[in-house]
Amino acid sequence: MNAPANSTQPLLTVVGARPQFIKSASLTRALDEAGWSQWLVHTGQHPDDGMGKDFLTELGVADPDARLHPAQSSRSARLADMLGGIAQEIERVQPAAVIVYGDTDSTLAGALAAHHAGVPLAHIEAGLRSGDRSMPEEHNRIMTDQLSDMLFTTGAGASAQLRLEGVPEENIIEVGDVMLDVALAAHSICRERIPPEWPSSEGPVLVMTLHRPGNVDHPELLSGALDAAGQWAKETGGVVYFPVHPRTQKAMLRCGLTLPEGALNPGPLGYLDMQAALLRATVVLTDSGGVQKEAWFQGAPAVILRDTTEWKELIEVGASRLFEPVKLKSGSGRDALVKGLVEAPAVPPIAGSGLFGEGKAAQRVLQALEQRCC
Ligand code: UDP
Repeated sequence: MNAPANSTQPLLTVVGARPQFIKSASLTRALDEAGWSQWLVHTGQHPDDGMGKDFLTELGVADPDARLHPAQSSRSARLADMLGGIAQEIERVQPAAVIVYGDTDSTLAGALAAHHAGVPLAHIEAGLRSGDRSMPEEHNRIMTDQLSDMLFTTGAGASAQLRLEGVPEENIIEVGDVMLDVALAAHSICRERIPPEWPSSEGPVLVMTLHRPGNVDHPELLSGALDAAGQWAKETGGVVYFPVHPRTQKAMLRCGLTLPEGALNPGPLGYLDMQAALLRATVVLTDSGGVQKEAWFQGAPAVILRDTTEWKELIEVGASRLFEPVKLKSGSGRDALVKGLVEAPAVPPIAGSGLFGEGKAAQRVLQALEQRCC
């Protein structure tokens, strides 16, 4: 990759978890096309956990330039190793800026390493707040934003939040959502694609993803969600399509829980298969940050199995509804979830909504980086 005429230093990007491989795809490509030199650091946040998908290859992103192997004995040990490893890469390549995505421990490690080295920090997906301090992601978002010099937001709500927190106006850059860029670019491929083990019947399909420890590490909640999905299938004659996350698989094994009758588990999907499944879904049940948005991007209504969401726009436009997991402990709560899934209304189109940047987020980030880092 060539550096632009006015920049000899690369941009160092930190990724380490599934959603970050996906989020980085459109900007990495845009930077490449604009001739920026890039250095991609894969923190190894998750050891090979059976997800078995090479998202970077699937999304056309070059192999990482550095791959770390942090300790996995505790979150602190892992964070310390990721921080140390990223610091070494910063020392080695002397980047013009460090780019971090989202809200994982890799995001925070990248932010701290940039801060310690005095390198400008760009945070993509800044300003999101769920308000739920029990989620590690909420702390990662807040701490990363505090350290960032360029805070790229997905929309007006996140920008307003940063203003409330006293972030200087010139550091807030509203660009839209790089995940919408990636989803739109994949749309025509996904229309042609049939995900693995997709049901052959024409009936309704509930696409379900669950992986948050707050849900799957609580047997009553996990079994309640599985029961409700099974009940939905019985009532509608539909099929539950549930690509089971490795953490959820382990939790099910530990608790002796099985899939509802007739449910299909193709295992964790690649990005394109996941989007194709969402495109074909009648309704989506998820606790994922990314999937709740992508359901809307692909035109499916979603029920979010969480008390709060950082993506408040989805609730405001009627694309998703929250369902408090604690309700799954009672039969009446499970019935309420089934009713919510059956009655989920059609979603308004994302196109023309003015939300999430209409597929141009990466180009806007690129322009801002060219102004500030050259
Ligand atoms: N995803 C995927 N295959 C799957 C499940 C999810 O490719 O089997 C993608 C999904 O489309 C989204 C991202 O992974 O882009 C979300 O990641 P995850 O749910 O692990 O994390 P979160 O968004 O909750 O941080």
